[in-house]
Amino acid sequence: MSINNSMNKFSLFTFILILHHYYEIEVDAFQKWTYNDQKSWSDVSKECDDINQSPINIRYTDLIFNESLKIEFRNYNQPSANFRATNHGRSVQFDYIGNSILVPTITGSALNDEEFALEQFHFHWGIDPKIGSEHRINGHIYPIEVSMHLIHYNNKKYRSYNQALDARNGNVAVLAIFFNINKNDNDYNPGFDIISKKIQQLQTTHTNHSIDLQDQLILQLLLPNNTASFYRYHGSVTTPPCTSNVTWLIMDDPNEIEFNQYEKFLNVIDHKSGKKIGNNFRRLQEPNGRRIECSFLNNNAGGGSGDNHPHHKNSVNITMVIIFTLIIVDIVAFLTISKIYMFK
Ligand SMILES: [Zn+2]
Repeated sequence: MSINNSMNKFSLFTFILILHHYYEIEVDAFQKWTYNDQKSWSDVSKECDDINQSPINIRYTDLIFNESLKIEFRNYNQPSANFRATNHGRSVQFDYIGNSILVPTITGSALNDEEFALEQFHFHWGIDPKIGSEHRINGHIYPIEVSMHLIHYNNKKYRSYNQALDARNGNVAVLAIFFNINKNDNDYNPGFDIISKKIQQLQTTHTNHSIDLQDQLILQLLLPNNTASFYRYHGSVTTPPCTSNVTWLIMDDPNEIEFNQYEKFLNVIDHKSGKKIGNNFRRLQEPNGRRIECSFLNNNAGGGSGDNHPHHKNSVNITMVIIFTLIIVDIVAFLTISKIYMFK
């Protein structure tokens, strides 16, 4: 009896020891990935080598126009202080901590009319303002850019963002917004002030410590003026575990912030390494024949990959019509002149 008891105790102890050790390995692996060594991400999560990964370069030549795509924004114009800001050591993140009635949501045909509630938003930026965005639009990296992701989950089906992320049928939507640095002081973005004030506070806040927003943020002011023009494709979250069940909605029009506001990002420090946070973007992933749709007739489409001088597919058609018309005019002119000469 007593031998059995001791054996049971021993087994339990071994189990706890192994579990604890296993947990440590998992936590270590998740904590240790870096933006400098992205090839090792698949050691942390095999899914990082999956074929449907993000970010991608959205090439104009790959676009499929889908005029039925619409996004409806709800509670984006409601001022709310229900956010908690955290310096995670790799980015700064704003978690929504308010109630489910006033939670900002998106829905519409772009999301099969299902409602997605805001969980958090965070930023990717470059230490050099020529880089920063994760996605590229036809090879274009926003020259001085902060890109913002708003992560939504289907709160009707799932109780938490992590539960939705674990599900494998596209229950997470990410809204991406590019930011340019404004050189014109007249176009000041007051909506971003609350964010940049918090980011300044996060410069001295210890990694993983959170601070409440306090001021009233209107999310609408972080969106570009035109929210009708966007791209949609299915991809993944852009950090380990790289879960590939994300509907990406990427705004075509960038928003703008002042250089002073952008500078606040440059002085946020990862207190564990003592280094400034920045260049926190994942390298481009292969589109692998995925369907990439746009909600608008893209005037710049048809330019090929990485081309900063794109041409429009429609403009090619217009050119053809003009050339054809000129040929007809030439033929008519030739025949007319020929007749005049013949009659002479
Ligand atoms: Zn992100």
